[in-house]
Amino acid sequence: MKQSKLFGKTIYEVPKDEVSKNAQLLIRGGFVDKLMAGVYYYLPLGKRVLSKIENIVREEMNAIGGQEILMSALQKKEDWQTTGRWDIDVMMKVQTNLDKEFGLGWTHEEAVTPLAKKYVRSYKDFPFSLYQIQTKFRNEKRAKSGILRGREFVMKDLYSFHTSEESLDEFYLQAKDAYSKVFKRVGLGDKTYFTYASGGDFSKYSHEFQTLTDAGEDNIHICDKCGIAINEEVVEELDGKCPECGSSDLHVEKAVEVGNIFKLKNRFTDPFNFKFLDSDGKEKTVMMGCYGIGPSRLMGTVVEILSDEKGVVWPKEIAPYQIHLVSLGNSDEVKNKAEEIYNDLQQQKVEVLFDDRGESAGVKLKDSDLIGIPLRVVVSAKTLGQDGVEIKKRSEEGFEIIKLGDLQHYLKNFI
Ligand code: ATP
Ligand code: MG
Repeated sequence: MKQSKLFGKTIYEVPKDEVSKNAQLLIRGGFVDKLMAGVYYYLPLGKRVLSKIENIVREEMNAIGGQEILMSALQKKEDWQTTGRWDIDVMMKVQTNLDKEFGLGWTHEEAVTPLAKKYVRSYKDFPFSLYQIQTKFRNEKRAKSGILRGREFVMKDLYSFHTSEESLDEFYLQAKDAYSKVFKRVGLGDKTYFTYASGGDFSKYSHEFQTLTDAGEDNIHICDKCGIAINEEVVEELDGKCPECGSSDLHVEKAVEVGNIFKLKNRFTDPFNFKFLDSDGKEKTVMMGCYGIGPSRLMGTVVEILSDEKGVVWPKEIAPYQIHLVSLGNSDEVKNKAEEIYNDLQQQKVEVLFDDRGESAGVKLKDSDLIGIPLRVVVSAKTLGQDGVEIKKRSEEGFEIIKLGDLQHYLKNFI
């Protein structure tokens, strides 16, 4: 992609109405645009990052047998009345001119349970799991955390269906592992804790994945001995002791919930009378679990944690492009050489953003830091004088000159 054609521009002054670091950096870098509190547009650079995160989530859900579907944002009032959740504050409602009221999905148990019931006949159809990556709507009272807390945001929600609690328990562990892989791949592995949280009326505990950051709104108590965590809301219930190893040496940290896994059991299958015919000919209740991750919140969390005063430092797996090729100076020699490198990389299907603009070196390098692509390749009269290009990793301070003849090899190794 040539930067001269890229839609979206970097902005140097911090948007006045934006207090959160993730939104400030993302707006300045030309990744997102703010429509109103808690509602953002994703511009080309931001959409690439979001899609990469979604694809990582998709791959890990597919790997545990999840089948991707897409349900509607518009929800039937009657289905939410069936479970008693129509009047929950978080639900946005729309009134149509047909005198009908709909809800906007903020989660999809009330949609997926009747759907699953419609297509399932006997025990032979189980277990199975369905997921979607879709826009959710929530009446969030505090929407000051940028894309960490949207009123409209992207969620991956997976729902699993089972003939027994044992089968649910088994899948729950697979989902837990898949989640750990997702957080590792997006670059948050070191800072993300498996956390015990309240389970509601139907399970003792649920589990959250909490990532350490001052931008988070949760307090978690981390066990110094085994490294798991407890959400503040359940610490008392556990007598201040780690549920895994019993230690009372816990320390408190601020964190944001990036994922959540929950054994719903019969909480939703009972109201919808979702039963199956077992091998013994008896009708039994379907057991259910739900598993959520917010790709847009993950993107915001990465920005909160993996950034410096100059801008974002994207991990390779989710960077908008792998290489930022920057030409400095307007001589034909520089322009032609940069163009040649760009064409080579394009041909090899390497994801490259090419800053071909006629801006000053200062502007181009500042923009490059702000956008935060993992590897920068600078072509200038100075580097060509040494028959090379200057290479700099966004995550490191130093740079090196690589000979033109060695460039392909170097980049191949990097990617
Ligand atoms: P929180 O306590 O932070 O409001 P939640 O408990 O309401 O989160 P869930 O209902 O479990 O969250 O949603 C599943 C996942 O969706 C969360 O783990 C998070 O990653 C994401 N998520 C939830 N609310 C938002 C939001 N308002 N904006 C962006 N992502 C969200
Ligand atoms: Mg919430």
